Amino acid sequence: MIKISKSEYQDILKYSARALPYEACGLVGGRIEGQDRIVEKVYNLTNVDHSQYHFSIDPQEQFEAIRDLRMRGMVPLGCWHSHPDTPAVPSKEDERLAYDTFASYLIMSLNEPETPVLSSYRLDERMVEKNTTHDHRQRRNEAGGSIMVREEIQFEQNVSCFKCYSRN
Ligand SMILES: [Zn+2]
Repeated sequence: MIKISKSEYQDILKYSARALPYEACGLVGGRIEGQDRIVEKVYNLTNVDHSQYHFSIDPQEQFEAIRDLRMRGMVPLGCWHSHPDTPAVPSKEDERLAYDTFASYLIMSLNEPETPVLSSYRLDERMVEKNTTHDHRQRRNEAGGSIMVREEIQFEQNVSCFKCYSRN
C-alpha cells in the first residue's frame, strides 16, 4: 500500500492542471514502514517532452530531487505523471518505459475534470526477468497483457499523524 496525504495529493493535482494540455510529471519520496510506502514529499518536475501523450522527466531536475530526498533522509519511492485526457491506467508507452520493480508509478488522470483520479501501479515482478533488459522485454511480450499491477492507495489528512489515527 502507498499512503499519501491530502496536501500532497492536492499538490500533484494542482501541478497537473497547470501543465495542461501537456502531461505533468515528478517524483515522490518518503519512507517505508513494513509493507507500507509513505509519501512525505512530492517533486513537481519538468516534462521535457512537452507532450500530451508522454513524458520524460528533466534528468538534471531528477538528479537534484533525488539528492534532496537523500539529504532529508528519505528514499525515492517512485514517480508520478498525469494523463490529461485518458484514464488513470498505464498506457502501452508507460509499460514499455517502466523498468524499476521497486518504484511506485502514480498516475493522475484529469480525464474527467470534475473527478480527478490518482492511481498507483507497480511492475508485476512475476512478469519481469531480473537483471537483464533483454529478458525483461521478452517476458513482457510473452505476457501480452498488462505487466503492471494496481497498488492500493490510502489518503491521509496528515501523514505525520498516522500513529494518532491507528490509536483511535
Ligand atoms: Zn502515462
